[in-house]
Amino acid sequence: MKIRVWGARGSLSAPGPATVGYGGNTSCVEVELADGTSLILDAGSGIRELGQRLLGREQGELHICLTHLHVDHVEGLGFFGPLWRAGWKLRFWGPPSTTATLRERVSRYLSPPLFPIGLSEAPAEAVFEDAPREPWRIGSAVIEAQMVEHRGPTLGYRIEDEGRVLAYVPDHEPYLTAALGDEPKWISGWALAAGADLLLHDSQYTDEEYLGRLGWGHSSVTHAANFARAAGVRQLAMFHHDPMRSDRELEELYDQVADSLRRDQEPPLIAREGLEVILG
Ligand SMILES: [Zn+2]
Ligand SMILES: [Zn+2]
Repeated sequence: MKIRVWGARGSLSAPGPATVGYGGNTSCVEVELADGTSLILDAGSGIRELGQRLLGREQGELHICLTHLHVDHVEGLGFFGPLWRAGWKLRFWGPPSTTATLRERVSRYLSPPLFPIGLSEAPAEAVFEDAPREPWRIGSAVIEAQMVEHRGPTLGYRIEDEGRVLAYVPDHEPYLTAALGDEPKWISGWALAAGADLLLHDSQYTDEEYLGRLGWGHSSVTHAANFARAAGVRQLAMFHHDPMRSDRELEELYDQVADSLRRDQEPPLIAREGLEVILG
């Protein structure tokens, strides 16, 4: 499984000289499975450039797994090349809702007045499905989606392909559930991340910032490291960087995260645009 980060910023795009090192685009991660299947995690502004790359390939089927529908995770769709070319088939998966289908909810953004063209006008074949409650197969991988602690219905994903595991939990506040008991299985998202080779996890706030943002749905870097420790992941990648965080400030937080992990865990990564990790 080959993983490539196209956007690692949280909440709002943050381009500019202070963020050029790790990038200003919001959440989007490309996963190429062992059998060649293309899977995309979230459709933040990072998906625009990925789309341009995909247009150079033969048309085919793409799977887009949405964690939730906050704007920073869907804002790139209007500029995702394959959606606007006939011949592509896009299968979207996302969190269930009791009030509206996934297509209707995505259309709220991809329609006037927020966007000039409606989703129904897109030439590509777009199919929308609620992520199944039970693990399901996409290509050579088994995918598992579970609700995690955030603001509004939000999924995390676990992708297992040829014995290797990627966990993707970009918006997550496990601290709110970690006090339920000593049993790690009660911690939000734990089953998704347990024993993963790589965990891309919300690392939005400094410890000081978190004190004023309890319940906003995100983690401090210390909470991200604690979660990675509890889940026994091999490597943590700090993800969903606060839009106010400069490259230099991110690197200052890195040491704090590295010191909080167990000795048998790999040194953490700071997710940046262009980062590639191959598992297996
Ligand atoms: Zn987000
Ligand atoms: Zn969110």
